[in-house]
Amino acid sequence: MAKRDYYDILGVSKTATDDELKKAYRKMAIKYHPDKNPDDPQAEDKFKEAAEAYEVLSNADKRAQYDRFGHDGMRAGAGGHGGGMNMDDIFSQFGDIFGGGGGSPFESFFGGGGGGRSRQRKGSNLRIKLKLTLNEIAEGVEKKIKVNRLVNASGVTFKTCSTCGGSGQQKKVVNTMLGQMVSASTCSTCHGSGKVIDQRPPGVDSTGLEMKEEIIPIKIPAGVAEGMQLSMSGKGNMAPGGGIAGDLLIVIEEKEHEELKRDGNNVLYDLYISFTEAALGTSIEVPTIDGKVRIKIDPGTQSGKILRLRGKGIKDLNGYGKGDQLIHLNVWTPKKLTSEERAMLEKLSTSDNMRPKPEKGEKGFFEKVKEFF
Ligand SMILES: [Zn+2]
Repeated sequence: MAKRDYYDILGVSKTATDDELKKAYRKMAIKYHPDKNPDDPQAEDKFKEAAEAYEVLSNADKRAQYDRFGHDGMRAGAGGHGGGMNMDDIFSQFGDIFGGGGGSPFESFFGGGGGGRSRQRKGSNLRIKLKLTLNEIAEGVEKKIKVNRLVNASGVTFKTCSTCGGSGQQKKVVNTMLGQMVSASTCSTCHGSGKVIDQRPPGVDSTGLEMKEEIIPIKIPAGVAEGMQLSMSGKGNMAPGGGIAGDLLIVIEEKEHEELKRDGNNVLYDLYISFTEAALGTSIEVPTIDGKVRIKIDPGTQSGKILRLRGKGIKDLNGYGKGDQLIHLNVWTPKKLTSEERAMLEKLSTSDNMRPKPEKGEKGFFEKVKEFF
């Protein structure tokens, strides 16, 4: 489904000021807020759509990029959150829309009402780097990674927060022009979780969390590339008081292969052969991602020729088949000669067969580049 234009979503012009954007978004957010439209998935979609539009347009860099490239400019590499925000992101965005923390007008509209969502605290994200070999990238790999994360310490017991009675929210009555309104804000004692620590063993601090080393298995899909970020939700630090755990972000790094180079999904290899091998033909072993392969060099092979080993490349990240291995042939010219070799070559050099005679229709550099890249 094609994405709608961000400006259309918010109903503003392309030249809208930050203030106009904020106003427009505030209207949409209030209209489509899930707590106001329970059991209406369309309203939730609209709510998310508006949040995403505002998230982009309210950021000068992102807006400039969107204005130039449209939605294509927004795709932040595979593994990023390819558009679409989760509810936590959206609610955390409200801070700047509705001004500040406790008792924001937004919370007073919806807070407490009819079992709405209480804003749970989220643990922080963890970010680790993961080095992968070309072989691991080519086929995908399962890894067990060691992570130090904050988890609920054992022996900690919780009780209901007495400040908010377990709702996670504190209500207060405020007088406004429209009369008295009940304003609800996140409980300052339990930070919204509704629970506080009852007992904790010695050595555990007031968050009730402790640092623990964990081995986390992760499946790396084939075709990932340097700099890509994979995210495992809920594998980051746990939140104090039993909120939602943060995410574990895995940043991919590529280990350089000794002989092969990666070019997208293709693998490149430079093969050097001798002048006699090129002239007489031979068969030679070359490295590939999955072991050695013997290839045939035809008699009369020219330097610069590119051979293709179909399907010996890297699996596409999005499942569009597999790349190839391209072998670039280089005819090696000897740099030192014995006097005997020199005499033989001098004798050869008088033969008319030794003179370059490129055939008509032989592919030149330009055609080769176009064909392969
Ligand atoms: Zn509380």
